[in-house]
Amino acid sequence: MSLRSVAKLQTWVVRFLARTYSNTGIPELTQARHNVKRNPFADLEDRDIAFFESTVGSRYVVQEDLQTYNIDFWRAVRGNSKLVLKPGTTQEVSAILRYCNERKLAVCPQGGNTGVVGGSVPVFDEIILSMARLDKILKIDEITGIAACEAGCILENLDRKARELDFVVPLDLGAKASCHIGGNVSTNAGGLRVVRYGNLHGSVLGLEVVLANGEVLDLMSDFKKDNTGYHLKHLFIGAEGTLGVITKVSLLCAPQPQAQHLAFLGLPNFDAVLRTFSSAKRHLGEILSACEMIDAPTLQANFDHFELNTPIGSFPFYMLLETSGSNGSHDLEKINRFVEFGMGKGEIIDGTIASEARKMQKIWKLREIAPIALGKDGYCFYYDLSLPLREFYSIVDVLRERVGPLATRVTGFGHLGDSNLHLNVCCTEYTQELYHKIEPFIYEYTHKLRGSISAEHGIGFLKKNYLRYSKASEAIAMMRDVKKLLDPNGILNPYKVLN
Ligand SMILES: Cc1cc2nc3c(=O)[nH]c(=O)nc-3n(C[C@H](O)[C@H](O)[C@H](O)COP(=O)(O)OP(=O)(O)OC[C@H]3O[C@@H](n4cnc5c(N)ncnc54)[C@H](O)[C@@H]3O)c2cc1C
Repeated sequence: MSLRSVAKLQTWVVRFLARTYSNTGIPELTQARHNVKRNPFADLEDRDIAFFESTVGSRYVVQEDLQTYNIDFWRAVRGNSKLVLKPGTTQEVSAILRYCNERKLAVCPQGGNTGVVGGSVPVFDEIILSMARLDKILKIDEITGIAACEAGCILENLDRKARELDFVVPLDLGAKASCHIGGNVSTNAGGLRVVRYGNLHGSVLGLEVVLANGEVLDLMSDFKKDNTGYHLKHLFIGAEGTLGVITKVSLLCAPQPQAQHLAFLGLPNFDAVLRTFSSAKRHLGEILSACEMIDAPTLQANFDHFELNTPIGSFPFYMLLETSGSNGSHDLEKINRFVEFGMGKGEIIDGTIASEARKMQKIWKLREIAPIALGKDGYCFYYDLSLPLREFYSIVDVLRERVGPLATRVTGFGHLGDSNLHLNVCCTEYTQELYHKIEPFIYEYTHKLRGSISAEHGIGFLKKNYLRYSKASEAIAMMRDVKKLLDPNGILNPYKVLN
């Protein structure tokens, strides 16, 4: 068979599989879709299963019904693991990794499996290390707000406990009911309130990490200030499970705000969005706790797929601005003055302000459900870019023009307050044609603007070929050296972050 015939046959097989899997809702295997070669790791044997059963107990050595562990939340990637391990203690994690390192068995750490870049599921047959049983809240100090928990603790559970003591976890995102604190730290998740609390490099005080060779690194701390040499915890924040497995986290919670208000605004164009953001910072100052933008096509996806409606009329752009402060009437006065100012200038056309919890939740839902609604067109290519604010939205228009009718919609929304755009290309089913229209184009575009190809979701599997668009070659070389030092056999989350 000639090379051309082989290539044609491969294309046909890829298309056939893509159709088959999109019909069943199961994505094609990542190794086939992205043509990946397996690294020379060992194959799983009966003696390995026997060791794992003796270490964590046979109940927690899962070999059947692994689909939900092998497929990511967004149905963009699919691995072929035959084994999920569910350790219940740091010592069990340590024993598993020591063994896997000696046997050269590859491991994929998994938290809530809500990650967006294909980092949380295997590419081939890596053993899935589920952190779900390590879910204890160890303490929340009622004076300082310092919390310590195991890595598998669900974000919403920690936040609920913190609120009982009048604190909040300084991180909030749409996946809070499923994602784990360990997953959040491993992706350096941003979310809705970075504008107020900063990112996790600031609020994580300490970590406990198990290295690839099983060594337990105790970096737990109760202090924000600790200038005793290199701050190793930062290496693991955002490392996406490639440098070690996080088993415990110490986090500084913030006092629960006494009063919150939420403005939902309609705006005539993107220039008005920028001016309104600038005005919000001036008028609302330290009480501004979230600043989100949603474009009309994103909101339309919500209405197309869910029974929701807008509290105001239809506009090209919408903004959600939240305040969190200690004096309700004072804060309301400020937000009213800010909205009146914007309306007077013609930058805000319409708006509503909610102060009651249920009304605010209804409005927040319009933002939080957007990524799910977009996926309901069939398939969605999600991107997560940091872009200079003046160019924040231009890429949406450019890409819409570029992909034309191949997409059902091209939309943009995101954390405007942090220059973080979520760019989405929706279609009825995944096709290579659309994929190649989008990538590497959007990364080249972002690079030209000196933006970041990943504002908050990470690199994972799906962006690893594009890391060079955001990192200098010297920096990537140093990342490789760090990986080699901490995981010389490369068993931890292979095929992710680095090529
Ligand atoms: C509806 C929705 C909204 C979202 N909104 C946001 C948002 O606003 N901002 C944002 O940043 N993200 C957002 N995300 C993405 C996702 O929720 C975050 O990336 C989250 O932090 C992942 O946590 P997880 O526990 O699900 O981790 P997983 O998806 O299971 O894993 C993510 C990565 O971390 C690694 N990992 C997990 N646990 C550990 C551990 N204990 N030790 C070492 N490595 C580990 C995995 O190997 C993987 O590489 C959203 C997702 C959804 C579904």
